[in-house]
Amino acid sequence: MNCPGCHGRAIGFWRWSVGLNAFRYTCESCGAGLKASPALWVGFVVTILASFLGLIPFSAGIERLVTSENGAWAWIMTGLGIMLFFVFTGGIVIYWLCGYRLRREKDDAF
Ligand SMILES: [Zn+2]
Repeated sequence: MNCPGCHGRAIGFWRWSVGLNAFRYTCESCGAGLKASPALWVGFVVTILASFLGLIPFSAGIERLVTSENGAWAWIMTGLGIMLFFVFTGGIVIYWLCGYRLRREKDDAF
């Protein structure tokens, strides 16, 4: 992800995806304070909402687990897989399409 200040590389994907680095970071090239752009916030919310789709098979699996029906773990793993898929795919899309914007000292706290 590039820095809007110096247009250099601000951060790599793996470091970006750790902790709160996606929302607040210091440019590795020029040291400018960076924060998440509005597009990144939208992408983040969409990703979280999409990953909720995985809750449908997940809860079906939990229900089967409680009632001792067959296939409970298959449903649970499918649900978790769907959630992981959306979080990972969303992360990649956000990383490539969205960006940071410069942080001013005034709005330091996000
Ligand atoms: Zn920079």
